[in-house]
Parts: sequence; C-alpha cells; structure tokens
Amino acid sequence: MGSIEEIEKYAKKHNIPIMQKDGIEFLENYIKENHVKNILEIGSAIGYSAIKMTLVNNDVKVTTIERDENRFNEAIKNITAFNLNNRINIILADALNININGKYDLIFIDAAKAQNIKFFEKFKLNLNEDGTIITDNLNFHGLTEKIDNIKSKNLKALVRKINNYKEFLKTNKEFTSSFYDTGDGISVSKKNK
Ligand code: SAH
Ligand code: MG
Repeated sequence: MGSIEEIEKYAKKHNIPIMQKDGIEFLENYIKENHVKNILEIGSAIGYSAIKMTLVNNDVKVTTIERDENRFNEAIKNITAFNLNNRINIILADALNININGKYDLIFIDAAKAQNIKFFEKFKLNLNEDGTIITDNLNFHGLTEKIDNIKSKNLKALVRKINNYKEFLKTNKEFTSSFYDTGDGISVSKKNK
C-alpha cells in the first residue's frame, strides 16, 4: 500500500494531469538546493506532487489546495498511506475564494491554467522575502507555440491565456522569471530586491 508507482498508475488510468517525471524532478532538486521548507501548492489533484515534494526532506511542510472533492478525497487517502498527515495540510476549496495567512518559501501554481495571473497576484502576498513562485504547464503540451493551428475555440482561448501569463511574467516589474522547457514547461519567479 502507498507507493509512488501506484499513484502514477491511478493518475494515468483516471486521466489526472499530475506532473511529468522530469518536471517533478526539477521541483525536487529546486527544493533540495534552495533548502525550501514551507510550500504552498495551488492544485493538489490526488496529492502526487505534494507527497513527492514533502519526501525531499524531513523539514519540508506543504499546504495544498484542491477544489474537486473526489480528487481531494483521493489525495487524503494517499497522504495517509504515506503517513504524511502531519506535514501535508490539504484544504478543500477554490483557491480564489479562500485566504491563506502563512508565509511560504515556495508557491507552486499548478491549477486552472487560465487563472494563473489571478493566482500569482493573490498568493504573492504569502511569499517570504526570499521566496519563489514556480508555475507548471507553460508549454501546455507544445500548444503555446502553435496557437494558429488550434481549431477549438475554447482551447485557443486557454492557450492564449497561458501566453498572456508568460508575457505578464516577462514584463513584471516586481519579479524576475526564468523559463524552462523541462516537463510541460516551468517558470521560476523571484522577487526583485
Ligand atoms: N499538482 C498536481 C496536479 C494538479 S492538476 C500534481 O502534479 O500531482 C490541477 C488541479 O487543480 C486539478 O485537480 C483541479 O481540480 C485543481 N484546480 C483547478 N483550479 C483550482 C482552483 N481555483 N482552486 C483549487 N484547485 C483548483
Ligand atoms: Mg501541472
């Protein structure tokens, strides 16, 4: 009971978009190298990335928010199977409707892709002085580079929003961002001193 491989299999079977292998490795290395201790995650799904991040080090703690009740319940099962209830605090809510009080070394945005600017603007207030905001899925399966070929209107609108977010990060006066092609495309944003 309670193996990472089982969670990966479950995600595949039920079409749950957990982080890709090299994406989660990137995140794990970032946590290790920068001695990250307190993490706020937007978008838990079934707890996969929260569990992987927590397992990096004994002193890592994660608060994670999920709005889908089924996924939330599945996440609780997985977190419990790993005995990580005391280090992962999962909240059932729409992240845009709740207030979080703590300060975090790392904020990981991996929820509704069209809302990235809203998540960023809301949760930057929860960032420690030297903190980082990391965002996943900026390539959106390679679609952000091929927007003219997309036929579906909804998909096109979503991909346009992801591109807007990248532009928002590139032109941001408060934060400086680096972009990586790892996994499904990741940004690392640090507050300017
Ligand atoms: N971070 C996870 C994958 C998250 S998938 C992992 O890598 O293991 C994205 C999740 O974000 C979905 O489960 C979706 O229900 C949730 N989500 C989307 N918008 C949200 C919001 N506004 N508030 C909370 N959760 C949200
Ligand atoms: Mg993702």
